Amino acid sequence: MATSETQERDFTPEVSLCSICLEQYKSPVSLHCSHSFCQTCLSTHIKSSCGDCDTPLGFPCPLCCVFIPAPREIGQYSVDEWATKFPVNKFLTSVVGVPVILCKPCQEDGEELKAYSWCKDCSEALCEECTKCHKKARPSRQHVVISITEWSENISSHAALFV
Ligand SMILES: [Zn+2]
Ligand SMILES: [Zn+2]
Ligand SMILES: [Zn+2]
Ligand SMILES: [Zn+2]
Repeated sequence: MATSETQERDFTPEVSLCSICLEQYKSPVSLHCSHSFCQTCLSTHIKSSCGDCDTPLGFPCPLCCVFIPAPREIGQYSVDEWATKFPVNKFLTSVVGVPVILCKPCQEDGEELKAYSWCKDCSEALCEECTKCHKKARPSRQHVVISITEWSENISSHAALFV
């Protein structure tokens, strides 16, 4: 009867936590070292490590201390703006924002297809095509596959993860 316990494990909430504020990312941006932080957290960090210097040279990554050099045009904008110059982390945005659920098997193949259903047995999202194969393939024929809308309504009770 305890069937619902195991299914949510794929969504390790830690993945979507900013290591500065320890909360869910708000507008996550990535540094060159591949660490991501909320834009506002990063901005605060930059300010505290650059202090009042007029032309900061850079700052250490809050996590791994890799030195992030200031861009050449740093003189043209304020330290405040600097944090907005980093690339937005699209992956985290999709994890944190409105759930855009992608087909897992297709994603592993490097394709981004919107999920159409959810296999409860595999805890995997499937696109329309993969759903068909999943239902035909012998090993997964008996799997319980529900529509992705049904699934997302189901997890919206655990929605804290997706706010
Ligand atoms: Zn943060
Ligand atoms: Zn880092
Ligand atoms: Zn399955
Ligand atoms: Zn697929």
